[in-house]
Amino acid sequence: MKTLLFAAVLTVLALPSQAKAPIGIVIHGGAGTISRDSMTPAQEQAYHAMLTHAVNQGYSVLERGGSSLDAVTAAVTILEDSPLFNAGKGAVYTFDETHELDASIMDGKSRNAGAVAGVTNVKNPILLARAVMEKSVHVMLAGKGAEQFAKEQQLELVDNSYFNTEFRYEALKRAKQAIAPLPHQAALPYDPAWKMGTVGAVAIDRKGNLAAATSTGGMTAKRYGRIGDAPVIGAGNFADNQCAVSATGHGEFFIRYQVASDICARAKYQRKSAAAAAKEVLAELKAVGGDGGVIVVDHKGQLSWTFNTEGMYRALKAEGGKAVSEIFAQGN
Ligand code: ASP
Repeated sequence: MKTLLFAAVLTVLALPSQAKAPIGIVIHGGAGTISRDSMTPAQEQAYHAMLTHAVNQGYSVLERGGSSLDAVTAAVTILEDSPLFNAGKGAVYTFDETHELDASIMDGKSRNAGAVAGVTNVKNPILLARAVMEKSVHVMLAGKGAEQFAKEQQLELVDNSYFNTEFRYEALKRAKQAIAPLPHQAALPYDPAWKMGTVGAVAIDRKGNLAAATSTGGMTAKRYGRIGDAPVIGAGNFADNQCAVSATGHGEFFIRYQVASDICARAKYQRKSAAAAAKEVLAELKAVGGDGGVIVVDHKGQLSWTFNTEGMYRALKAEGGKAVSEIFAQGN
């Protein structure tokens, strides 16, 4: 079978050794079989507009001297509030026709992290993940306890029906028909129509600090309290101050192959660029059946993305450049 792998390094910067890296941010809104034929021009335009808005808002935090942590939080919150993406408002349906959301955030400077899994009534799970990181002594909270903590932190709570959308409900009906005979969750086909749109952001700020954030509704028709890679530090999200990664794709593979931390470890120990490491890891993942993509930033301010699917909603803004948003493998 033909293996598709699309990668791009958008800024390559040769800086004098003591010079500060430039600021920059990359975001994604999910990877999968996104073809031009399957989208109307109006839909394409709506995705580009929302990606551009989110990346610009994240960048403006950096431009004002804000932290990479605040920049990724701002960008992901915007994407969570849009019904276009499988996170926050646009979260997919579980088998039982409810919504269970996962998210995580990591601060590259301190390697502090916060994650939440299976939350049902928190409007912006990324804000809860951040509160876990900053206001609790824990890294990961799940289910009812996470929701209790959200209440104590006075985060905005919503009824689970807030996450209902017609097109995700249609996707659930199709998914249920297809999964009936499958023996276990890892065998689920990665059908983008079911769950496309996990969101994420990575950024580098004026002080050279990196951060990563990822948020998702998970996989359509998930059961039994299934938790994906998005809240698992090292799988769907990772940051130290050398390398930060946010992932999207078939979560079971991203957990088993520790995709986000593997990319950063290869960059560190094999002395290669994080962009090159990401390309390798995603090619290897494809070979074992794992579909998806990642966005990456490194300590030099190099912004990149790589995916082994037909498309990935994505955008970036590098210092001195304009926001660039793309959907398809060939660009645009
Ligand atoms: N990685 C997400 C999960 O498995 C889904 C996705 O990115 O589409 O929960």
